[in-house]
Amino acid sequence: MDDVDLLDVGAAGVEADDRGFVETDEYLRTTAGGVWALGDIVGEHLLKHSANHEAEAVARNLLGDELEAVDDGAMPFAVFASPEVAGVGATEGDLESAGREYASRTCRYDETARGDAMHAEGFLKAIIDPEGTILGCHIIGPEASNPVQEVVVAMTAGSGTVRDIRRSIHIHPAALGGRPARLLGAVHPRGRPALSRRARGARARSDRQSISSVAAQ
Ligand SMILES: Cc1cc2nc3c(=O)[nH]c(=O)nc-3n(C[C@H](O)[C@H](O)[C@H](O)COP(=O)(O)OP(=O)(O)OC[C@H]3O[C@@H](n4cnc5c(N)ncnc54)[C@H](O)[C@@H]3O)c2cc1C
Repeated sequence: MDDVDLLDVGAAGVEADDRGFVETDEYLRTTAGGVWALGDIVGEHLLKHSANHEAEAVARNLLGDELEAVDDGAMPFAVFASPEVAGVGATEGDLESAGREYASRTCRYDETARGDAMHAEGFLKAIIDPEGTILGCHIIGPEASNPVQEVVVAMTAGSGTVRDIRRSIHIHPAALGGRPARLLGAVHPRGRPALSRRARGARARSDRQSISSVAAQ
C-alpha cells in the first residue's frame, strides 16, 4: 500500500500519480489549495538531502514575494558501498533520449591522483555540453562522493563549466586533481569539445541543411 493511500490524501483533495506519489507542480504545490508536499512522498529523488532542499524551497515559496521553481538540476547521489558509487546530473542515456548535444570522457580511477595512490579500481565519467557546461559526472571508486561534491559546487555556485574545476588547485592526491582536472578540461580543450557520434551526426545534418539553403538562395 502506498503512503498516499495510508494517509488518504485524496480525502483532502490532494491528487496522487499512478505510481502512488503526490502530484505537485514545480513550486511543490499540490492539487489542493494551500497544501504543499516535499520529500519522499513527492517521488522525485527519495534522498534526505533532496527532502531538505525541497523543504527550503517550500519555505522560500511560502514566505517569499515570488514563487521559485525547485532547481534539482545538480541533485547528487551516493551509494556508500565498497567501492562508492556517486554521481550528479544527467547520464549519457538521459541526454541521448533528450536528443541533446554533449561530449563525454571517461578515465580509469587509478588515472586520478587519488586512485593511483590507493591502487583503486573504478572510473570517472564527465559529461558536458558544447559550451563546457557540466551536465553530469559519475564516479565509481573509493570516496567517490567527495569529488562528486566538488562537481555539485561547480554546477551550482560556480560558472557551471569545467573551467571551475580545471582552474582550481587540488590537494594532492585528490580524485579531481591532475589528470581528471585536465580530462574535464580536455573534454572542452579549446572551446570545441569532442561531440558524441549522435551529436556529430545532428550537427553535420544541420550544417548540410544550412549549406543547401544558402546554395538555394
Ligand atoms: C534504511 C534507509 C537508509 C537511507 N539512507 C539514506 C542515505 O544514506 N542518504 C540519503 O540521502 N537518504 C537515505 N535514505 C532516504 C531518506 O531517509 C529519505 O529520502 C528521507 O528521510 C525522506 O524524508 P521525508 O521527510 O520525505 O520522509 P521521512 O524522513 O520518512 O519523514 C516522514 C515523517 O513523517 C512521519 N509520519 C508518517 N506518517 C505519519 C502520520 N500519519 N502522521 C504523522 N506523522 C507521520 C514519520 O514518522 C516520519 O517522521 C534512507 C532511507 C532508508 C529507509
